[in-house]
Amino acid sequence: MAVARTPLIAGNWKMNLDHLQAVAFVQKLHWTLKDAAHEDGSVEVAVFPPFTDIRTVQTLIDADKISFALGAQDISSHDSGAYTGEISGAFLSKLSCGYVIIGHSERREYHAESDEVVAAKVQAALRHGVVPVICVGETAEDLEKFGASAVPAGQLEVALSGVAADAEIVVAYEPVWAIGSGQAATPQQAQDVCAKLREVIASKMGADAAAKTRVLYGGSVKSANIASFMREPDVDGALVGGASLVADEFAAIIRFQK
Ligand code: PGA
Repeated sequence: MAVARTPLIAGNWKMNLDHLQAVAFVQKLHWTLKDAAHEDGSVEVAVFPPFTDIRTVQTLIDADKISFALGAQDISSHDSGAYTGEISGAFLSKLSCGYVIIGHSERREYHAESDEVVAAKVQAALRHGVVPVICVGETAEDLEKFGASAVPAGQLEVALSGVAADAEIVVAYEPVWAIGSGQAATPQQAQDVCAKLREVIASKMGADAAAKTRVLYGGSVKSANIASFMREPDVDGALVGGASLVADEFAAIIRFQK
């Protein structure tokens, strides 16, 4: 029997919007979306502000009863102690962060995060009840050398080492060449790789987990192309960067029509 997966539209703010700008932005997005599908739970919306905004956004969401989920953009693989500059999963879960992005290509590239570090961070998130949004994707060179799915599938295999069959995770397929480039993958490319990633989930965590887990596409998603991705059977939502910073545009993405 097919399992219905609630679409997830996730906004990765990256290093944009300070805590004051975050308040204005979340309020504007909320009012723009007043009548939208996420109010009835048919689409889940999550925002991923910088660490310094999280407390402010959490307070606003609570006070105004805004139905956005909250996430962080990174997590330490350690739980506490002498790790200057790191943020523990325990802190995130205390701030009602339901999600954390792990292994974004910008962290893999600029902070030399290996597949093993990503796997350790996935474990840290799960220890604290925070759902990891595990990002995988190939560079343009990988695409040329190995095709689209080999590298992301390999990254996901390592990330899922030791993850229990009943753990809740989200996977985001983000081809590195599509991020911030304006050149999104085609819906067919996204579907092919997302289907392959679902097979990896099945082999590591079992068929039930594969049927339940949401696999997102990310990379130059905007209101003009979201519907074409959401029509694909193995694409369960989007991880949105640039377009998640413009309230009207992000609202239009959330209101996608199949
Ligand atoms: P983009 O970024 O939507 O600006 O391409 C996506 C991401 O990095 O998650």
